[in-house]
Amino acid sequence: MKIALIAHDKKKDDIIRFSDANKKVLKKHELYATGTTGKVIAEKTKLSIHRFQSGPQGGDQQIGAMIANHEMDVVIFLRDPLTAQPHEPDVSALMRLCDVHAIPLATNITIAEILMYSIERSDIVKKHSEKGFVEE
Ligand code: PGA
Repeated sequence: MKIALIAHDKKKDDIIRFSDANKKVLKKHELYATGTTGKVIAEKTKLSIHRFQSGPQGGDQQIGAMIANHEMDVVIFLRDPLTAQPHEPDVSALMRLCDVHAIPLATNITIAEILMYSIERSDIVKKHSEKGFVEE
């Protein structure tokens, strides 16, 4: 599966811990991330990750484009709900696209762990089709 990892600055330590703790599962999948998130995860865990632009520079929109093109299966986006983000419209657009295309989206560490548990047990198995995602 294609999994996107994104974390706002105050959640970078959390996404590093999360990625390290779930390394065994994550390394079986194709990983994508916004620029800085991908950099810190790769540095600390040695996971192989395709990095897009930094979030404020358009990285969230690049991941959104993959969702719109039916090319992303899961999004883990550890948001900081207590700090105003300059690219809030991009963040909202990304979350909206997840809902439009029924893409599982974890916006905090608890649901991210639940999603990983589910992926590990293959509860969420989706494959690509010309019409978008279909359940297997
Ligand atoms: P970053 O972007 O990984 O480049 O920090 C994340 C975001 O704020 O959307």
